[in-house]
Amino acid sequence: MKKKILVVDDEDFQRDLLNKLLSKAGYTVAEAESPEVALALMRNEDFPVIVTDLIMLDMDGVEFCQRIRERNSQSVIIALTGYADLYDLQKLKQVGFDNYLTKPIKLDKIQPVIEAGFEKIKQRKKYGR
Ligand SMILES: [Mg+2]
Repeated sequence: MKKKILVVDDEDFQRDLLNKLLSKAGYTVAEAESPEVALALMRNEDFPVIVTDLIMLDMDGVEFCQRIRERNSQSVIIALTGYADLYDLQKLKQVGFDNYLTKPIKLDKIQPVIEAGFEKIKQRKKYGR
């Protein structure tokens, strides 16, 4: 079974890049250009791993993460940021993120984090949370 990832980023370039990298690595990738679009997609489909930009126009990544957690505690949510120093991993974990990655995105950097995410989901499903 293919592993499914939802990529959320308001910048077309970043989204395309991530989609290409992850698709090439064998994942099934869906894209959303905003948190609102992503939340709409999530109403009909389950995404075990969600990779999201933190700085977006209509809703920032932190609020987006909180909105996801209101109804979904199982998905692994990974923050994507170009400004690592602005965000403290502890703070991101408090609002419900599982991990974060800094831009620029490279496959050898992102893949281990995503694989760890899928592994975490297996555990969550096994033991509940
Ligand atoms: Mg952005």
